[in-house]
Amino acid sequence: MKNDTLLVHAGRDPQAHAGMVNTPVFRTSTVIFPTLASYQDRKSHGDKFVRYGRHGTPTTYAFEEAVASLEGGYKTAAVPNGLAAIVASLTAYARPGAHLLMPDSVYTPARRFCEGRLASWGVRTEFYAPRIGAGIAGRLTPDTVAVYCESPGSQTFEVQDIPAIAAAAHARGIPVIADNTWATPYFLRPFELGVDVSIHAATKYIGGHSDLMMGVITANETHWDAIHKAVDDLGYSVSPDDCYQGLRGLRTLGVRLRQQMGNAVEVARWLERQPQVAAVNYPALESHPDHALWRRDFGGAASLFAVELRPEWGGRVQALVDSLTLFGIGSSWGGYESLVNLVQAGASRTATAWTPAGPVLRLHVGMEDPQDLIADLKQGFSAAAS
Ligand SMILES: *Cc1c(COP(=O)(O)O)cnc(C)c1O
Repeated sequence: MKNDTLLVHAGRDPQAHAGMVNTPVFRTSTVIFPTLASYQDRKSHGDKFVRYGRHGTPTTYAFEEAVASLEGGYKTAAVPNGLAAIVASLTAYARPGAHLLMPDSVYTPARRFCEGRLASWGVRTEFYAPRIGAGIAGRLTPDTVAVYCESPGSQTFEVQDIPAIAAAAHARGIPVIADNTWATPYFLRPFELGVDVSIHAATKYIGGHSDLMMGVITANETHWDAIHKAVDDLGYSVSPDDCYQGLRGLRTLGVRLRQQMGNAVEVARWLERQPQVAAVNYPALESHPDHALWRRDFGGAASLFAVELRPEWGGRVQALVDSLTLFGIGSSWGGYESLVNLVQAGASRTATAWTPAGPVLRLHVGMEDPQDLIADLKQGFSAAAS
């Protein structure tokens, strides 16, 4: 089945729920059993057994099943937020003496978890150049427990050659974990590229309305037990209300992404032509150094990219941001509305330098009319220049 059909049908079983189109919200902690034997007999109930609320309810399972089928993975675990998905997936492989490979472009809280908590557990993290590709083979050691990818890189948008990285890692029996939040399950089929564990901040496009915090971890059959156990050990669970919102977001993921990608390309192309702009870092643009790689592996592009302004804008960038009226100033992205934020990605790098021409803005393009967004940017540039 194609993605658009899956978005409509995955995780739904109306006849199991009195004909209701959407799987209802099942709230519970305790579940009552008719006999002690039926309570103890976990095996015969299969995957959808609900014995205690922390492990999930029919609403949780419907959401997890929908994500697993979109991702093309074996099973999915819903967790409280995107960072929890990162923490659980890395915890699954953490042991004293372990070596972990992380891209230098990684989401900063993931870096902090590695440098702090994981280091205290005896895990040594090595940060690698995101465009390393097959060269990752030279970094693998007998203690390497996982290679982590995030493509494109948080804030800097380098696209990683995941198939090449996975081939090298798999040759040594090492799993690949990938944060695919930007691409969403709609624009990337991670397991077809060789990823073993795929994570998303469902907070972003899956939720899609800036009102949900959730994460998902999907694994192939080989790695599911390790992931499931880590999620269990960490005590993560997600409310059925949030899973309901996640399912609701999924139903419109395709139309939202197509619309937002179209808008983002239009805004990015306009920005590229402005004299105030040194570069637009957006893999969907032909000018991006990884455009061909993006085209090969992705089915589309999220509406999130970075704009490098010319150096002389260093003193005016604050005025520019403050004068925008349609771009909200705030964290996160993936909702229906446009956002702007200042990027300081170079600051946290340890393995590679990232030296933009001038100040860098990250734009999230929403579903507004792109011509209105362009007009807003245009008036922002003139207001800040005067
Ligand atoms: C936002 C984000 C996360 C964290 O998600 P939260 O739900 O905010 O915890 C993880 N990875 C990437 C790439 C993100 O953009």
